[in-house]
Amino acid sequence: MSGLVVHLDPPDGAWMESHTLKMLHWLGAVVDGFRERSELPRAAVELIVSDDAAAAIRTLHGSVVGVEDLGNFTMERVGGVVAAKTMFRNDDHSEAVVILDSTIFKSPAADAWVTQAHVVAHELAHTYIGQLRSAGGAHLAPSYLPSEVAQWLVRFALEEYLADRLAALTLSSLGSVTLPDGTSRPVRSADVGPVAGEFLSAAGQALCEVADLISRYRNTGHDLAGMWRSTYTATEQILIALAHAESEREESVENPSSLLADLDDVTPLRTAWAELYEIFIRVPLLGPPAEFGAAEAASLAAGARVVLQLWEELGLTFSDADEGFRIHVAHPSSSWPYRDAGD
Ligand SMILES: [Zn+2]
Repeated sequence: MSGLVVHLDPPDGAWMESHTLKMLHWLGAVVDGFRERSELPRAAVELIVSDDAAAAIRTLHGSVVGVEDLGNFTMERVGGVVAAKTMFRNDDHSEAVVILDSTIFKSPAADAWVTQAHVVAHELAHTYIGQLRSAGGAHLAPSYLPSEVAQWLVRFALEEYLADRLAALTLSSLGSVTLPDGTSRPVRSADVGPVAGEFLSAAGQALCEVADLISRYRNTGHDLAGMWRSTYTATEQILIALAHAESEREESVENPSSLLADLDDVTPLRTAWAELYEIFIRVPLLGPPAEFGAAEAASLAAGARVVLQLWEELGLTFSDADEGFRIHVAHPSSSWPYRDAGD
């Protein structure tokens, strides 16, 4: 048995099929195997399959660790909606609670199990990464300083990338699909509903919106703090969308090229992602906590420089001030998209 319990919300009977329950415990056992390989203690993971996941997540505000304000949690993100969220009840992250949207478990589609398995494997990977990080990872204090905000954004995107890669590994243990030519290969998340294209275009769109926002600030001079907050929030979502798209692309046999081939040459995202991806692939997937900690710390420092460079391309640079920092907004002629407009 894995250290996994499954609860339904509301607890109105046992609609979940027994083979689905069995699959969830199998996935839990695979991720327990990751913990063993990393010499982490067993974890208690509670999976709550909820008819109103956003509400269920909001009710956990105050009873889980972390700095995130869950009181206003919603499921909408750049590139789509989230189907689940992993949180922790204690500091060593050995007690996790995962809230999952029940919709995917109630789907009548014959291949719905692939989606279910991918979503659950991804969230279980978060429970493993959380535990790995608290055992040996880089400590990152909450901060409003741009260079440290940049590290947080890199950490979020790196974590999504690693969770996707671990989910792919977990999923491949579930079974094979037989191809038209009679050969078979391990099942992949992209077998149902590949989403890389949607993530990619949503990220491009969000970047254009950030550029517009900065340009609006230049014209009006109003609400610098709001413009900055929107910029880093959007940057987080953009990087996470690219991380999901890239990991799906890695799994793809039909289209194995990196995401870079599809990123528009003109946007500063291409340069930023090329560098971030090089940084991300150096972080080991399975290993001892100290190794993960060192690799993550190095990748956050290097990745933050890439994010600061991205902001500079959009026209934002920063300097220290007595109480906090200053934001400098460059002339349109030296920032994207206007800088390239004359070519
Ligand atoms: Zn995730």
